[in-house]
Amino acid sequence: DSRISRISSAIRAIPDFPKPGILFQDITTLLLDTKAFRDTIDLFVERYKDKNISVVAGIEARGFIFGPPIALAIGAKFVPMRKPHKLPGEVISEEYALEYGTDVMEMHVGAVESGERALVVDDLIATGGTLCAAIRLLERVGVQVVECACVIELPELQINLL
Ligand code: 5GP
Repeated sequence: DSRISRISSAIRAIPDFPKPGILFQDITTLLLDTKAFRDTIDLFVERYKDKNISVVAGIEARGFIFGPPIALAIGAKFVPMRKPHKLPGEVISEEYALEYGTDVMEMHVGAVESGERALVVDDLIATGGTLCAAIRLLERVGVQVVECACVIELPELQINLL
């Protein structure tokens, strides 16, 4: 698809951010290119529009940029998956492993119903640990995760699906 190369070149790589040795993939430059940003959303909408998806779950923070326009276009609701102590209502939580230590992801109780079909959205997949935590959280409340959608894959990293 010819749109992919424009999207890819609109993403900027910044060395040594947030720590020395990390090449950070910065999607904020993609948001400045109105055609590439629209193409990014369109590609996902084309893939997911007829899949009977009722929930788009976006992962904090950059899943909050790409998730809502996809949700609106496919007629699904948007559910934020947040860092701890951000959501004001009752939450369910899922702990997950980071390179060093652990983190927690939270979702509002009652945001989704058992039997719903979800798409999980984030900007980037590296180890897959973040997406797996989102999948576990949704599956615990009976939601079927149809697919996970990311703009960027870091192919040099091994995917850990446990
Ligand atoms: P994983 O859990 O797959 O190892 O890491 C993915 C998470 O880390 C995503 O939520 C993603 O936003 C964030 N992340 C890790 N490295 C980068 C990066 O280079 N650029 C961006 N934009 N996000 C990153």
